[in-house]
Amino acid sequence: MLKVGIVGLPNVGKSCLFNALTAAGAAADNYPFCTVDPNVGTVEVPEARLDRLHALVRSPQRVPTFIQFVDVAGLVEGASHGEGLGNQFLGHIRDVDAIAHVLRCFEDPDVAHVLGTVDPVRDRGIVDTELALADLEAVERRLEKVSKRARSGEGEALAEEQALLPCRETLDQGLPVRSLDLPPDRWQRVRSYNLLTAKPVLFVANVGESDLPDCENEFTRRLADALERESAGPMIAVSSRIEAELAELAPDERKEFLDELGVSEAGLSRLIRAAYGLLGLITFFTFNEKEARAWILPRGSLAPEAAGAIHTDFQRGFIRAETIQFEEFVVAGSMKSARELGRVRSEGKDYVVQDGDILLFRFSV
Ligand code: GDP
Repeated sequence: MLKVGIVGLPNVGKSCLFNALTAAGAAADNYPFCTVDPNVGTVEVPEARLDRLHALVRSPQRVPTFIQFVDVAGLVEGASHGEGLGNQFLGHIRDVDAIAHVLRCFEDPDVAHVLGTVDPVRDRGIVDTELALADLEAVERRLEKVSKRARSGEGEALAEEQALLPCRETLDQGLPVRSLDLPPDRWQRVRSYNLLTAKPVLFVANVGESDLPDCENEFTRRLADALERESAGPMIAVSSRIEAELAELAPDERKEFLDELGVSEAGLSRLIRAAYGLLGLITFFTFNEKEARAWILPRGSLAPEAAGAIHTDFQRGFIRAETIQFEEFVVAGSMKSARELGRVRSEGKDYVVQDGDILLFRFSV
């Protein structure tokens, strides 16, 4: 399952957002380190194509994708060196697929800011620096291990070195590893290092109640400018406090409340969609006699990685994937007629999976 880690400095509204997302009731007190234990909440991703596929193939089960949100403890300056809850914090986000970086864009004298003033551009820099420093350390440790073996000409070590050196160079320049332009096979290797700055990031500007319905203010504008200048990543603005309130309401009351606020769609739906789409994730589908199912995959993943999302045996024993685009399948109506129409392709190990692919894996174990 796709895991998104919610990160940011203390008291920026992470727990609040997490509560809203999962209605799971994590602690959200005005206290920097109230969220020591990561809280995990699971949210279904709305996907109309799956509903359609499910109806067409008439499998008993419909299995949607879920996003798991992980609320991790507040990061502070110096975390990469173990300040505050640093080490724990970094440990928890090593295994997430993507990061939602929450930035405080609301003013409230009752809610302490760890640095005294509200400044999302500065805050973002602090968190990003900590993540980059932690990565640099990890890359250097790994380089140390492989460079000797690389010098003696060991193929695997050479390949590792070739993947690690550009990472180090990028981090040295203060840039995230995700900004590297690498061919897919090299990326596969870099991804396996679980570097924090290699993960896709969505910036979440947390605005105050008074900034609705547009969710805009002086802070969000400055932040958006800074992010755009650096092509740092997509940004979405929500009011986590309002969303938390919304999440507690019954559906009809929710609608009423949204109308009152002059908002057409809850910020959370926008956030889930954004987390899903803007973070470069795609959906592929599988079906059999038991279930029609949607799966999430990072854009650019190869067919064996898609197989691996289902089962590691599928990846290890991957032979090929019978592939058809969702739209073409709908036109054909069934796999049988799609085959007759010559619409089913046989794709190999180097195939880059596309959004909307329906895949049938052939493998041997
Ligand atoms: P975390 O430390 O980042 O997890 O922050 P929390 O979610 O615990 O929020 C810290 C405090 O800020 C809590 O008292 C929240 O109620 C408050 N807060 C969060 N979002 C908003 C907001 O949009 N406006 C205001 N006024 N307070 C907020």
